[in-house]
Amino acid sequence: MKKISKKQCDFCHSTFLPDVRAWRQQKTCFKESCRKKRKSRAQLKWFLRHPDYHESRKIKIKNWAKDYPDYWRFWRKRHPEYVERDNLRRQQSYQNLKISAKQNGIIKISDQPEVKTLQVLQEFSAKQNLIYRRLETLFNVLSQKSSPQSKSI
Ligand SMILES: [Zn+2]
Repeated sequence: MKKISKKQCDFCHSTFLPDVRAWRQQKTCFKESCRKKRKSRAQLKWFLRHPDYHESRKIKIKNWAKDYPDYWRFWRKRHPEYVERDNLRRQQSYQNLKISAKQNGIIKISDQPEVKTLQVLQEFSAKQNLIYRRLETLFNVLSQKSSPQSKSI
């Protein structure tokens, strides 16, 4: 019987002892986060290999729905727990949209020319303050050098 050797996880790079049944193909450790990453990587690869999957599925569902016209009409009535979850999801999505719209409004206001002018003035003012402070320091140094009695004070 072959002894199973340890492997290194593709994601967290820790060493782990793979499952006996899957040791040849197992790429990740048993941590939930690593398993989720592996699963999403595999799904992405699969969708890249089958780019027309969603389109072909849509056509299949449309054709199937023609044979069962009442199915979708009563689906929400038969699944109240789904309806509750879906309504919460919709509410949350709407709230996020409102927040996002407000943030876009803030960005638009800051793009207004008056606000930009104000920002430029503030920057200009800050530069003037810097120039003024430098000049003041220079005058102080020069005045101390020119009048030796100021050092004695
Ligand atoms: Zn891992």
